[in-house]
Amino acid sequence: MKYAIVDGKKREAQKSGELGKCICCGKDTIAHCGKIKVNHWKHKSLQVCDSWSELETEWHRSWKNQFPSNFQEVVMKDLDSGEKHIADIYNAKQDVVIEIQNSPITLEEINSREQYYNKLIWIVNLQPYIDNIKLHENILNGIYDAVYLFWQPNLNKRIKELRNIGNYFEAEKIKNEEDEYYSYLYNKYYFHNSHLVSAEDDYFLLEWKYQHKRWNYTSAHLFFDFGDSYVYMVLESIKIWNGFIVKRFKKEKFISKYSK
Ligand SMILES: [Zn+2]
Repeated sequence: MKYAIVDGKKREAQKSGELGKCICCGKDTIAHCGKIKVNHWKHKSLQVCDSWSELETEWHRSWKNQFPSNFQEVVMKDLDSGEKHIADIYNAKQDVVIEIQNSPITLEEINSREQYYNKLIWIVNLQPYIDNIKLHENILNGIYDAVYLFWQPNLNKRIKELRNIGNYFEAEKIKNEEDEYYSYLYNKYYFHNSHLVSAEDDYFLLEWKYQHKRWNYTSAHLFFDFGDSYVYMVLESIKIWNGFIVKRFKKEKFISKYSK
Protein backbone atom coordinates (compact mmCIF):
# COMPACT_ATOMS: atom_id res chain seq x y z
CA MET A 1 0.00 0.00 0.00
CA LYS A 2 1.17 3.49 -0.74
CA TYR A 3 -0.77 5.03 2.17
CA ALA A 4 -1.41 4.43 5.84
CA ILE A 5 -2.92 6.58 8.57
CA VAL A 6 -0.32 8.36 10.69
CA ASP A 7 -1.44 10.86 13.32
CA GLY A 8 -4.92 10.79 11.87
CA LYS A 9 -3.72 11.59 8.35
CA LYS A 10 -3.37 9.46 5.24
CA ARG A 11 0.22 9.62 4.13
CA GLU A 12 3.08 7.84 2.37
CA ALA A 13 5.81 5.83 4.06
CA GLN A 14 8.82 8.03 4.79
CA LYS A 15 11.17 5.94 6.87
CA SER A 16 11.59 2.20 7.23
CA GLY A 17 10.15 0.90 10.48
CA GLU A 18 7.76 3.73 11.25
CA LEU A 19 4.28 2.68 12.24
CA GLY A 20 0.87 3.53 10.88
CA LYS A 21 -2.63 2.15 10.72
CA CYS A 22 -4.05 0.36 7.70
CA ILE A 23 -6.45 2.60 5.77
CA CYS A 24 -8.73 -0.38 5.26
CA CYS A 25 -8.79 -2.47 8.46
CA GLY A 26 -7.17 -0.07 10.94
CA LYS A 27 -4.56 -2.60 12.09
CA ASP A 28 -0.88 -1.79 12.56
CA THR A 29 1.21 -1.30 9.46
CA ILE A 30 4.93 -0.84 9.15
CA ALA A 31 6.80 1.27 6.60
CA HIS A 32 9.23 -0.31 4.17
CA CYS A 33 11.51 2.10 2.39
CA GLY A 34 14.44 1.03 0.31
CA LYS A 35 16.25 1.33 -2.95
CA ILE A 36 14.90 -1.76 -4.65
CA LYS A 37 11.17 -1.54 -4.01
CA VAL A 38 8.98 1.53 -3.96
CA ASN A 39 8.24 2.87 -0.47
CA HIS A 40 5.21 1.13 0.91
CA TRP A 41 3.28 0.10 4.01
CA LYS A 42 2.73 -3.48 5.00
CA HIS A 43 0.58 -5.04 7.70
CA LYS A 44 2.67 -5.88 10.72
CA SER A 45 0.98 -9.25 11.07
CA LEU A 46 1.72 -10.15 7.44
CA GLN A 47 -1.98 -10.64 7.05
CA VAL A 48 -3.61 -9.03 4.07
CA CYS A 49 -6.96 -7.47 4.85
CA ASP A 50 -7.91 -6.88 1.22
CA SER A 51 -7.93 -10.20 -0.62
CA TRP A 52 -7.70 -8.30 -3.91
CA SER A 53 -4.48 -6.51 -3.14
CA GLU A 54 -1.42 -7.35 -5.21
CA LEU A 55 2.25 -6.64 -4.72
CA GLU A 56 2.85 -3.04 -5.61
CA THR A 57 5.37 -2.38 -8.38
CA GLU A 58 6.93 0.76 -9.83
CA TRP A 59 4.38 0.47 -12.57
CA HIS A 60 1.45 0.65 -10.12
CA ARG A 61 3.00 3.52 -8.31
CA SER A 62 3.66 5.55 -11.43
CA TRP A 63 0.01 5.16 -12.45
CA LYS A 64 -1.32 6.12 -9.03
CA ASN A 65 0.97 9.13 -8.90
CA GLN A 66 -0.71 10.60 -11.97
CA PHE A 67 -3.91 11.22 -10.02
CA PRO A 68 -4.71 13.58 -7.14
CA SER A 69 -3.66 11.99 -3.84
CA ASN A 70 -7.23 11.85 -2.50
CA PHE A 71 -8.11 9.69 -5.53
CA GLN A 72 -5.43 7.13 -4.70
CA GLU A 73 -6.06 4.05 -2.54
CA VAL A 74 -9.60 4.77 -1.52
CA VAL A 75 -11.34 2.38 0.84
CA MET A 76 -14.66 1.28 -0.59
CA LYS A 77 -17.23 -0.36 1.64
CA ASP A 78 -20.28 -2.31 0.67
CA LEU A 79 -22.96 -1.03 3.00
CA ASP A 80 -24.97 -4.23 2.94
CA SER A 81 -22.24 -6.80 3.46
CA GLY A 82 -19.66 -4.61 5.16
CA GLU A 83 -17.06 -5.96 2.73
CA LYS A 84 -14.18 -3.54 2.23
CA HIS A 85 -11.65 -3.15 -0.56
CA ILE A 86 -9.06 -0.59 -1.48
CA ALA A 87 -9.62 0.88 -4.94
CA ASP A 88 -6.36 1.86 -6.66
CA ILE A 89 -7.96 5.03 -8.01
CA TYR A 90 -11.41 6.31 -7.19
CA ASN A 91 -12.96 9.37 -8.73
CA ALA A 92 -15.91 10.10 -6.43
CA LYS A 93 -17.47 12.72 -8.65
CA GLN A 94 -17.64 10.38 -11.59
CA ASP A 95 -18.12 7.38 -9.30
CA VAL A 96 -15.53 5.43 -11.23
CA VAL A 97 -12.88 3.06 -9.95
CA ILE A 98 -9.69 2.45 -11.89
CA GLU A 99 -7.89 -0.78 -11.09
CA ILE A 100 -4.25 -0.99 -12.05
CA GLN A 101 -3.56 -4.65 -12.71
CA ASN A 102 -0.10 -6.09 -13.11
CA SER A 103 -0.21 -9.73 -12.12
CA PRO A 104 -2.43 -12.36 -13.72
CA ILE A 105 -5.84 -12.54 -12.12
CA THR A 106 -8.55 -15.18 -12.22
CA LEU A 107 -11.80 -14.71 -14.08
CA GLU A 108 -13.66 -15.12 -10.77
CA GLU A 109 -11.79 -12.20 -9.32
CA ILE A 110 -12.32 -10.10 -12.44
CA ASN A 111 -16.03 -10.77 -12.15
CA SER A 112 -16.28 -10.14 -8.44
CA ARG A 113 -14.49 -6.81 -8.71
CA GLU A 114 -16.78 -5.83 -11.55
CA GLN A 115 -19.78 -6.70 -9.45
CA TYR A 116 -18.45 -4.89 -6.42
CA TYR A 117 -17.76 -1.55 -8.07
CA ASN A 118 -20.46 0.43 -9.84
CA LYS A 119 -18.23 1.59 -12.63
CA LEU A 120 -14.87 0.01 -13.15
CA ILE A 121 -12.01 0.60 -15.55
CA TRP A 122 -9.16 -1.86 -15.83
CA ILE A 123 -5.66 -0.85 -16.81
CA VAL A 124 -3.74 -4.02 -17.48
CA ASN A 125 0.02 -4.07 -17.81
CA LEU A 126 0.94 -5.92 -20.98
CA GLN A 127 4.61 -5.01 -20.87
CA PRO A 128 5.60 -8.48 -19.57
CA TYR A 129 4.00 -10.01 -22.68
CA ILE A 130 5.34 -7.56 -25.21
CA ASP A 131 7.23 -10.25 -27.17
CA ASN A 132 3.96 -12.04 -27.82
CA ILE A 133 2.09 -8.97 -28.95
CA LYS A 134 1.72 -7.49 -32.37
CA LEU A 135 -0.23 -4.37 -33.24
CA HIS A 136 -1.55 -4.49 -36.77
CA GLU A 137 -1.99 -0.97 -37.99
CA ASN A 138 -4.19 -2.12 -40.77
CA ILE A 139 -7.09 -3.89 -39.11
CA LEU A 140 -8.36 -5.52 -42.26
CA ASN A 141 -4.97 -6.92 -43.16
CA GLY A 142 -4.64 -8.11 -39.60
CA ILE A 143 -7.96 -9.91 -39.74
CA TYR A 144 -7.06 -11.36 -43.10
CA ASP A 145 -3.89 -12.74 -41.57
CA ALA A 146 -5.84 -14.06 -38.65
CA VAL A 147 -8.19 -15.96 -40.89
CA TYR A 148 -5.79 -17.28 -43.45
CA LEU A 149 -2.62 -17.71 -41.47
CA PHE A 150 -4.07 -18.73 -38.15
CA TRP A 151 -7.39 -20.38 -38.72
CA GLN A 152 -6.87 -22.14 -42.02
CA PRO A 153 -3.86 -24.27 -40.98
CA ASN A 154 -5.47 -25.05 -37.64
CA LEU A 155 -8.68 -26.08 -39.24
CA ASN A 156 -6.95 -28.20 -41.87
CA LYS A 157 -4.91 -29.88 -39.19
CA ARG A 158 -8.01 -30.69 -37.19
CA ILE A 159 -9.79 -32.10 -40.23
CA LYS A 160 -6.78 -34.29 -41.03
CA GLU A 161 -6.62 -35.55 -37.46
CA LEU A 162 -10.29 -36.46 -37.51
CA ARG A 163 -9.95 -38.29 -40.80
CA ASN A 164 -6.93 -40.17 -39.49
CA ILE A 165 -8.92 -41.58 -36.62
CA GLY A 166 -11.78 -42.43 -38.95
CA ASN A 167 -14.17 -39.77 -37.75
CA TYR A 168 -15.23 -38.74 -41.26
CA PHE A 169 -18.57 -37.43 -40.11
CA GLU A 170 -17.03 -34.87 -37.77
CA ALA A 171 -14.35 -33.97 -40.34
CA GLU A 172 -17.00 -33.30 -42.95
CA LYS A 173 -18.99 -31.23 -40.48
CA ILE A 174 -16.01 -29.03 -39.71
CA LYS A 175 -15.21 -28.70 -43.40
CA ASN A 176 -18.72 -27.39 -43.97
CA GLU A 177 -18.47 -25.13 -41.01
CA GLU A 178 -15.31 -23.61 -42.42
CA ASP A 179 -17.28 -21.47 -44.82
CA GLU A 180 -19.48 -20.40 -41.98
CA TYR A 181 -16.45 -19.51 -39.91
CA TYR A 182 -15.13 -17.27 -42.62
CA SER A 183 -18.38 -15.52 -43.26
CA TYR A 184 -18.80 -15.12 -39.53
CA LEU A 185 -15.36 -13.59 -39.22
CA TYR A 186 -15.88 -11.49 -42.27
CA ASN A 187 -19.19 -10.13 -41.10
CA LYS A 188 -18.40 -9.69 -37.48
CA TYR A 189 -14.92 -8.29 -37.65
CA TYR A 190 -13.89 -7.54 -41.18
CA PHE A 191 -16.94 -5.89 -42.64
CA HIS A 192 -18.05 -4.49 -39.32
CA ASN A 193 -14.77 -2.67 -38.83
CA SER A 194 -14.12 -1.56 -42.38
CA HIS A 195 -15.07 2.00 -41.45
CA LEU A 196 -12.10 2.10 -39.10
CA VAL A 197 -9.65 1.72 -41.94
CA SER A 198 -10.11 5.11 -43.55
CA ALA A 199 -7.97 7.89 -42.23
CA GLU A 200 -8.05 6.83 -38.60
CA ASP A 201 -4.65 6.09 -37.15
CA ASP A 202 -5.81 5.21 -33.70
CA TYR A 203 -7.42 1.85 -34.31
CA PHE A 204 -5.46 -1.37 -34.28
CA LEU A 205 -5.85 -5.06 -34.33
CA LEU A 206 -3.98 -6.34 -31.34
CA GLU A 207 -2.71 -9.85 -31.68
CA TRP A 208 -1.66 -11.49 -28.40
CA LYS A 209 -0.08 -14.89 -28.75
CA TYR A 210 -0.95 -17.05 -25.70
CA GLN A 211 -3.53 -14.42 -24.78
CA HIS A 212 -5.03 -14.57 -21.31
CA LYS A 213 -8.51 -15.52 -22.40
CA ARG A 214 -10.10 -14.25 -19.20
CA TRP A 215 -9.86 -10.72 -20.53
CA ASN A 216 -12.41 -11.68 -23.16
CA TYR A 217 -15.04 -11.89 -20.46
CA THR A 218 -14.78 -8.58 -18.70
CA SER A 219 -17.84 -6.39 -18.64
CA ALA A 220 -15.91 -3.30 -17.53
CA HIS A 221 -13.89 -0.95 -19.70
CA LEU A 222 -10.57 -2.55 -20.46
CA PHE A 223 -7.39 -0.66 -21.29
CA PHE A 224 -3.95 -2.08 -21.99
CA ASP A 225 -0.66 -0.41 -21.19
CA PHE A 226 2.44 -1.26 -23.22
CA GLY A 227 4.64 1.31 -21.57
CA ASP A 228 4.37 3.87 -24.38
CA SER A 229 2.51 7.17 -24.20
CA TYR A 230 -0.88 5.62 -24.98
CA VAL A 231 -3.51 3.42 -23.40
CA TYR A 232 -5.29 1.01 -25.69
CA MET A 233 -9.00 0.59 -25.11
CA VAL A 234 -10.58 -2.70 -26.12
CA LEU A 235 -13.52 -2.15 -28.44
CA GLU A 236 -14.06 -5.75 -29.29
CA SER A 237 -12.45 -9.02 -28.33
CA ILE A 238 -12.10 -11.60 -31.02
CA LYS A 239 -12.89 -14.65 -28.97
CA ILE A 240 -12.17 -17.26 -31.61
CA TRP A 241 -8.72 -15.84 -32.13
CA ASN A 242 -6.09 -14.26 -29.88
CA GLY A 243 -6.94 -10.69 -30.46
CA PHE A 244 -8.70 -7.46 -29.79
CA ILE A 245 -9.72 -4.46 -31.78
CA VAL A 246 -8.40 -1.51 -29.84
CA LYS A 247 -8.43 2.24 -29.96
CA ARG A 248 -5.57 4.16 -28.49
CA PHE A 249 -5.73 7.33 -26.42
CA LYS A 250 -2.94 9.55 -25.17
CA LYS A 251 -2.26 8.68 -21.54
CA GLU A 252 -2.33 12.33 -20.57
CA LYS A 253 -5.84 12.63 -22.03
CA PHE A 254 -7.05 9.58 -20.16
CA ILE A 255 -5.52 10.83 -16.92
CA SER A 256 -6.98 14.31 -17.23
CA LYS A 257 -10.42 12.90 -18.02
CA TYR A 258 -10.47 10.85 -14.83
CA SER A 259 -8.76 13.44 -12.65
CA LYS A 260 -11.62 15.90 -12.93
ZN1 LIG B 1 -5.59 -3.73 6.54
